[in-house]
Amino acid sequence: MESKKVCVLGAGLSGISHALNKQGRGQEVTIIDRNNEVGGVLQSKKTQGYLVDFGANTLSLRSKQTEDFLKKYKVLDHAIDANLNCSKRFIVRNNKIISLPQGFLTFLTSSFLSPLGKVRLCMEPFISCRKNNSEDESMGAFVQRRLGKEALDYAANPFIGGIYASDPESLVLKHAFPALYEMENKHGSIFIGMIKGKKKNEKLSKSRLLSFKEGMQELPKRLAKSLIKPPILGFKIKEIKSNQNGQWWVRGESKEGNLFENLFDEVISTLPGHTLSEINWHGVNQDDLITTLTKATHPPLALTFLGFKRDQISHPLDGFGFLIPELEKRKVLGTLFSSTLFPNRAPKNHSLLTSFIGGERNPELCNLSDDEIIALSISENSDLLGISGLPNFAKVIRWPKSIPLPDHSMGQRKVAALKLNSQNKGLFFKGAHISGAPLPNCLNPE
Ligand SMILES: Cc1cc2nc3c(=O)[nH]c(=O)nc-3n(C[C@H](O)[C@H](O)[C@H](O)COP(=O)(O)OP(=O)(O)OC[C@H]3O[C@@H](n4cnc5c(N)ncnc54)[C@H](O)[C@@H]3O)c2cc1C
Repeated sequence: MESKKVCVLGAGLSGISHALNKQGRGQEVTIIDRNNEVGGVLQSKKTQGYLVDFGANTLSLRSKQTEDFLKKYKVLDHAIDANLNCSKRFIVRNNKIISLPQGFLTFLTSSFLSPLGKVRLCMEPFISCRKNNSEDESMGAFVQRRLGKEALDYAANPFIGGIYASDPESLVLKHAFPALYEMENKHGSIFIGMIKGKKKNEKLSKSRLLSFKEGMQELPKRLAKSLIKPPILGFKIKEIKSNQNGQWWVRGESKEGNLFENLFDEVISTLPGHTLSEINWHGVNQDDLITTLTKATHPPLALTFLGFKRDQISHPLDGFGFLIPELEKRKVLGTLFSSTLFPNRAPKNHSLLTSFIGGERNPELCNLSDDEIIALSISENSDLLGISGLPNFAKVIRWPKSIPLPDHSMGQRKVAALKLNSQNKGLFFKGAHISGAPLPNCLNPE
């Protein structure tokens, strides 16, 4: 079979994974990215003795498919598991940090739900299933219907704030948590589904929470080492044009005005959906569908990184971190205990806290100045964790368009990507806005 020339747009995790898959099928692959480093959202920086992750902090390894992929490209040996303590997670209720239950006994004694809220949660297997006409049910409606209002307010709300910087009402269950959607369809209950429904050959017997010695960016950097052709960096894609032979002309430009121009048999875009409108598309059948691909909501998000001497913080930091329900009316969405999670995140006898601010809950906070964002993060963390004095390290990073949400436009986006491909041979639209944002989705291109 003749080897095809493939161009992958974007050197984030999706782009590198697609490139490796195509290369594995004997294709000649070129990746192009406008950044000067691979990784896209995955950016890890070492500064003043602290190692900070500007994007994703953890990779949740649950499936055999993801494990096989990481093993195949010799990445898994370099991964580090999160500290065992990190199975302990906290939420804030009535202005106090409380530990979430880790088993049935602790569930009974925990104050994370009221006695009535716990009874309602335990009734889940007896709740009737969704009606056929509610295919696009939101995560919020699903949790309230099956687990009750209190579980929505004190479990789903902070959890979705932490994962997607979003609200449960904005996410469509089927796209955001397909496993829960399937469980209800198949077993009529999520609890029964969890007990009965484990597909043993697909899921790992024990899930792992991973990062790398040099932070999450080490993942795309290590994967990229397996590419025969190193990614072409520092070139922004400006134009994609089809020709009469069914090939694709790709044109990019560097900041210095240097050009990248070449002809390919296939183009795979893994660019964030909202950037597709910045490119000139010529000769694309049904190019109006590209507008549909730009429709994902990306909430704005700011991250703060605060470093303290360990003895300034009275909380033991013995867990993953805490999340804050909206009802608590605070400004921070949650905080990761980064230096508990993984080693090398802070100098000896120091701690690193990573906090998330803004999101769909408080988007206006992302417009504050750096000093204001740091001040509010110090104030909220000090209040909740019992911190005395000021940090010796403080940094802010902003994502004006952070995670693409699996919202009501996701179904349309997926259909548009498929239609564009069927109408334009060799043109593919992939990436987090189509596959879903969690890293395993980006790592497992079909
Ligand atoms: C703050 C934050 C925290 C997160 N935390 C987690 C987490 O803990 N766990 C988890 O599983 N997931 C997390 N995610 C989600 C996950 O990190 C992303 O969904 C995933 O990394 C996206 O990868 P991607 O390759 O699809 O896109 P990207 O990483 O966005 O890559 C797209 C690439 O396209 C390039 N590009 C854009 N336009 C052009 C152009 N015109 N020309 C050339 N190149 C271009 C960009 O430079 C970029 O490198 C987080 C996301 C964010 C923002």
